[in-house]
Amino acid sequence: MGNPKAFLSINRKEAGYRPVQQRKYDFAEVELTFNDEECHQQASRCMDCGVPFCHWNCPLGNRQPEWQDQVYKGNWREAYRLLQETDDFPEFTGRVCPALCEKGCVLMLSADAPVTVRNNEAAIIEKAFSEGYVEACPPRTRTGKRVAVIGSGPAGLACANQLNRKGHTVDVYEKDERIGGLLRLGIPDFKLNKNIIDRRLALLEKEGISFICNTPVGENKKQLASLLADYDAVCVAIGSGEPRNLSVEGRELKGVYFALELLKQQNRIIAGEKIAPEELISAKGKRVLVIGGGDTGSDCVGTAIRQGAESVMQIEIMPKPPVGKNPATPWPNYPQVLKTSSSHQEGCERRWSLDTVRFIGENGILKQVEVAPIIWTKGEDGRMTMQRAADTEILNVDLVFLAMGFVHPVYEGLVEYLGVALDARKNIAVDAENKSSVDKVFAAGDASYGAGLVVRAIASGRKAAAAIDRYLSDKK
Ligand SMILES: Cc1cc2nc3c(=O)[nH]c(=O)nc-3n(C[C@H](O)[C@H](O)[C@H](O)COP(=O)(O)OP(=O)(O)OC[C@H]3O[C@@H](n4cnc5c(N)ncnc54)[C@H](O)[C@@H]3O)c2cc1C
Ligand code: SF4
Repeated sequence: MGNPKAFLSINRKEAGYRPVQQRKYDFAEVELTFNDEECHQQASRCMDCGVPFCHWNCPLGNRQPEWQDQVYKGNWREAYRLLQETDDFPEFTGRVCPALCEKGCVLMLSADAPVTVRNNEAAIIEKAFSEGYVEACPPRTRTGKRVAVIGSGPAGLACANQLNRKGHTVDVYEKDERIGGLLRLGIPDFKLNKNIIDRRLALLEKEGISFICNTPVGENKKQLASLLADYDAVCVAIGSGEPRNLSVEGRELKGVYFALELLKQQNRIIAGEKIAPEELISAKGKRVLVIGGGDTGSDCVGTAIRQGAESVMQIEIMPKPPVGKNPATPWPNYPQVLKTSSSHQEGCERRWSLDTVRFIGENGILKQVEVAPIIWTKGEDGRMTMQRAADTEILNVDLVFLAMGFVHPVYEGLVEYLGVALDARKNIAVDAENKSSVDKVFAAGDASYGAGLVVRAIASGRKAAAAIDRYLSDKK
């Protein structure tokens, strides 16, 4: 800890965002990155606590106090070395992680002003790239063992990276046309520019990982059997691809889409793909309703605004969360409180405790949505029960995006043909070693525990890789 009193004299200052009036007309990243001096100042606020709850809260076990200290001392290369030991892709987590660490910072508890861990993480990795510290390091020797990683999201990429470093030969199979999973086709460019993914992929390729796109594994039984025969181990990292649907009257109307239909298409358009006019989903001049109050919904809000929507409303069935603090989720836990994203700030009406009764259309096209207020009551057992109020409301809307989460991995094809056991939540069941019920098949990421976060997916991919490495070593 370089400056023991900095936390008393230097205020928390975030890297901040581009002004709303500028950013809402383009898809460039909205968040700024610290310059060296800003990062140095903010790093000095870290108190190097005896028990660092930031470290405890981070699924990767990032050693924040250690790299904050190195940044404070101007040792950027050492800060980067420490960071990349536990985090394969700080350029992703530094941009999109909800910063679980900061919620556990002691300065969050005492002053509601935690150290800017995530912003510093982004600044360290960007500095490392610009100074040339990040170099391809292919393994010196190869073990002769071959591993197939199925799915190229953060879990698959982290698993592949770790196994490749151990000298195993790794092929990553991806059903889509580009590598990256939800980083590539889910998360909008305004949160994560896709050049950031390409920059990392170029390194991973140089290090020897092969990426095979446009290849849905499990397309048929024969293809799957031949893949299983070809590899010494397989890691299934296919994400949680089945979206939660809303089975109400009018669901089939034109104008009602799943969130990812919009987000994937917009990401593809930015990547230069041409979309047939009859398939184009555009919010330009439309009244948009986003159903689901979470992050995916918020990404739909930001996308619709950039497409030129006339108005955007986001509704949520759950009650409005408390503002500021929530006694139910005390420090150092992640607080269940009202979150306002950069997209919300760009112009969106938000409403809570509203259920969707039906979609109303004319000639097969969506025109209105009937919603009903929900009365939530807490039972004696502490469980919340919901009751629809009788007085429903009609909203005039042209487009609806369903952003109510994801239920489990897609079963059709791969999961079905593999015959892996599922857990109680219908994800791929794994043991403590991330091993599935099928010989030599492991699973990682959202597919193994349900829809989560990028940081958790990277952590899970790393854990699966360590287990696969042990498995392969035992087989020698
Ligand atoms: C819109 C949206 C925004 C999000 N924003 C954030 C955020 O800001 N911060 C955050 O931390 N998290 C965010 N998340 C969550 C985060 O993206 C996921 O938790 C994370 O990407 C999961 O990683 P994964 O590797 O397990 O799966 P995924 O990223 O889903 O990747 C799985 C990959 O497997 C491929 N695949 C599936 N089946 C097959 C098959 N049979 N053969 C070959 N390939 C296959 C898929 O095409 C996909 O590319 C967001 C999620 C969504 C949907
Ligand atoms: S990965 Fe997320 S939780 Fe971990 S240190 Fe970075 S911002 Fe914090």
